[in-house]
Amino acid sequence: MPLFDKIALVGIGLIGSSLARVIRREGLAGHIAVATRSASTLKRAEELGLGDSYLADLGEAVADADLVIVSVPVGSSGKVAEEIAPRLKKGAIVTDVGSTKRSVIAQMQPHIPAGVHFIPGHPLAGTEKSGPDAGFAELFENRWCIFTPLPGTDPAALEKLSEFWRRCGSNIDTMDPEHHDMVLAIVSHLPHIIAYNIVGTADDLETVTKSEVIKYAASGFRDFTRLAASDPTMWRDVCLHNKDAILEMLARFSEDLALLQRAIRWGEGEKLFEIFTRTRGVRRSIIEAGQEVDVPDFGRQAVEHPPR
Ligand code: NAP
Repeated sequence: MPLFDKIALVGIGLIGSSLARVIRREGLAGHIAVATRSASTLKRAEELGLGDSYLADLGEAVADADLVIVSVPVGSSGKVAEEIAPRLKKGAIVTDVGSTKRSVIAQMQPHIPAGVHFIPGHPLAGTEKSGPDAGFAELFENRWCIFTPLPGTDPAALEKLSEFWRRCGSNIDTMDPEHHDMVLAIVSHLPHIIAYNIVGTADDLETVTKSEVIKYAASGFRDFTRLAASDPTMWRDVCLHNKDAILEMLARFSEDLALLQRAIRWGEGEKLFEIFTRTRGVRRSIIEAGQEVDVPDFGRQAVEHPPR
């Protein structure tokens, strides 16, 4: 038996199309309705056979849906909620996958009608790719999905949504939205901002040619370029919609960078050695937690692009 009679996927990029694929593989829906903003993405989703119906009208797609998953850049979530709200079925669950939670809740919640369960969520799974071709059914396997339930959330609806994500392969955690935004600022948002910055700096250098940067990239630079190739719209929105937590983490980062700079300037080898030893331990813990594999090139070949 499918978990839901009808699931509507609003937004069919990397996350939406990965959901479509895993929903199909696991038989989680009787019917998958796909809706997106542009005609070209909708056509591509249809060519890929991601759903059972394809609609340019978001409202039409969510009508009669038991589960609606909004997978659009966080800055567009309010507009999407406004558009779908009048057609939402009583008793339906509406969730999202946005990388920031306080802002998404502020944008979406006012539009959600009484009797509809709004449960904000965020799967901590992704790649630097975007669009419907980029998705794959295994994306959420052994990854965390964090819910930031609002006060008064119906426990049965939360359990049903949790079961859905478990069947997509994820582990479930819940936290409050403020805490989510702070945690994600350090584990995801800051690394991306640093990567955008370092790749930008290298691109601006005059003393080293661009061809040298590309030629010798495997020395370390390459690993930053993967993050810095992430979708500009998504990351612009993340920066604008998790401003406070990101600025707090950036301030701490700058302080620590200044300490490193000082240690290098004054030849404080012991201090450098101690910091580098501590950070090496962090990577070991991530591998032990099953969130990374210990093979060369960070194992991305195997982890993020498994054979289909
Ligand atoms: P994506 O591949 O770029 O797909 C975005 C989807 O949203 C497309 O269907 C796009 O429609 C639609 N969209 C874009 N702008 C829109 C707008 N103004 N109004 C309505 N729809 C719009 O993005 P994604 O990587 O799937 O990310 C979707 C969400 O997941 C974001 O909120 C992001 O923060 C979150 N997330 C991403 C990752 C990741 O690593 N990528 C991980 C976890 C969570 P058209 O193509 O038709 O314009």
